[in-house]
Amino acid sequence: MTNTNCLQGIRCPACGQKDRFKITALITCIVTDDGSEPVGDHDWDDESNAHCPGCGFDGTLGYFRTGSHLPPDPEGMNEHRSEWAAAALLAFMEATGTDEEDALGDLLGDLMHWADRNNFDFESALDRARCHYVEETAGDGGAK
Ligand SMILES: [Zn+2]
Repeated sequence: MTNTNCLQGIRCPACGQKDRFKITALITCIVTDDGSEPVGDHDWDDESNAHCPGCGFDGTLGYFRTGSHLPPDPEGMNEHRSEWAAAALLAFMEATGTDEEDALGDLLGDLMHWADRNNFDFESALDRARCHYVEETAGDGGAK
């Protein structure tokens, strides 16, 4: 099901679920010595903390947003490709305790160590990955 209201363009970058999130919202309250009572609306933006109850992934809401900033997807597969990579990244974060901000760079560095020890040519694999990416994002708009 495609979201068309509050969650339009939002999906978990790790597991891909689109139905339910925990988002830290900003609310205004009337506060007395006895307690607090929310008044008016509540808001969030791309900097708000978001949590996926499906897989436990945490990040800013902007990290959960999909959409127009993406390059062309001629085969319609790049969402799946991204989800597969997110699963690997999430497993790496869980195994190492690396936070979201550092995870991609740390994983790439560790893959270099892995390649050294398992007789793989990392640079060659990276060239191959770049070629695939260019092919998978080729379109009228061009890859950015
Ligand atoms: Zn998730």
